[in-house]
Amino acid sequence: MAKFVCTQCNKEYDQPTPDGFCTNQPDCEYGSGWLKEVKGAPASATDATDEATASAPEPEPIGFENEIGLCILMMDGSLSMGDLAFPTTDYPGDKFQLVSMNAAGGVWSLKNITQADNALIALCVFGGAPKLEWIKSVKEIVDDYGDEAAFGEYIRLILETKTPEPRTTNLNEALKLAHEIYQAYLKGGLSEHGGIKDFKPLVHKTVRVGGGQGEEDFISIPNARILIYTDGEHNVTQAVHNPFAEEEQSVLLSAFIGEEDGKGVKQMQKMANICPKHAPAQGFFLIHSPERIQTLKGLFRMASGASGFCPSCLLMEQAPAEEAAKAETLEPDGTTVPETVEEQETIDDPQPQMNTDGHG
Ligand SMILES: [Zn+2]
Ligand SMILES: [Zn+2]
Repeated sequence: MAKFVCTQCNKEYDQPTPDGFCTNQPDCEYGSGWLKEVKGAPASATDATDEATASAPEPEPIGFENEIGLCILMMDGSLSMGDLAFPTTDYPGDKFQLVSMNAAGGVWSLKNITQADNALIALCVFGGAPKLEWIKSVKEIVDDYGDEAAFGEYIRLILETKTPEPRTTNLNEALKLAHEIYQAYLKGGLSEHGGIKDFKPLVHKTVRVGGGQGEEDFISIPNARILIYTDGEHNVTQAVHNPFAEEEQSVLLSAFIGEEDGKGVKQMQKMANICPKHAPAQGFFLIHSPERIQTLKGLFRMASGASGFCPSCLLMEQAPAEEAAKAETLEPDGTTVPETVEEQETIDDPQPQMNTDGHG
């Protein structure tokens, strides 16, 4: 009788793997499955907690035309990221591992998009100060790192060795650098940040629904997203200043890794965009239990593909393709018309929501 079972693919093991994660690649979705000890019961017995790890189907690939999309990943590499990600569970990884595996998995899932050379990723780490490591296209990343696991290890290495001032967390400086890169993208040139120059930033025209007022307007949203996460609190003296809040439509997504009453949760939530489709929902994601691993990976994917804003957008992306097609009608002119189908979605995944979900 197996003593350990993968939470993702149910592969049985007599011994735990060295790192506690499933080695059943490529069948088992990378970065999601870890081994859970089976206590007394046969491995086939239904474990009530397994439902939380139902695998999300791969959404339809996102296509870029001849224009450039950008995702800025602003990743917290502070020392506390070396602590266990979910200390009250049997999840074996630390927070570095959690984010590096899922960032790699999210980016890697875009490798087959059309125009993968036009989807840019700006990889940044931050502690007391931020540092841009590089700007590469998804195609260059795939060519340079070869496979998802190697890319994940690379991200971990960068977080652990390149983070400036890892004892502190300065959200202001991180947001400032992200905003500078974003502004350069809007102007069509990233050469001062080591990226390409003379390109056309991609812009989508979208209907924005007013928050509960029934109002709608058309806005142009650049095909760029910034994803910032932390596991801690802004711990320098100035208050948090968020330059993205001054944009007509913020493209800033935020996440907090830790308990929902953790210090810093509110700061991260406050800086997140208000979704143009799902207002007043915000683009904030709380990663407080292993059941949110799929959410985290989906968040990295969504941000990397510059394709959504909030947990409801993510749910639609992770829904089966035909559901997504029903939920969103693409008009011939590329206008996205939001409908209300997402309210009827029933997905086994824990619903990624803001902080009012009754502890998942
Ligand atoms: Zn597995
Ligand atoms: Zn949304």
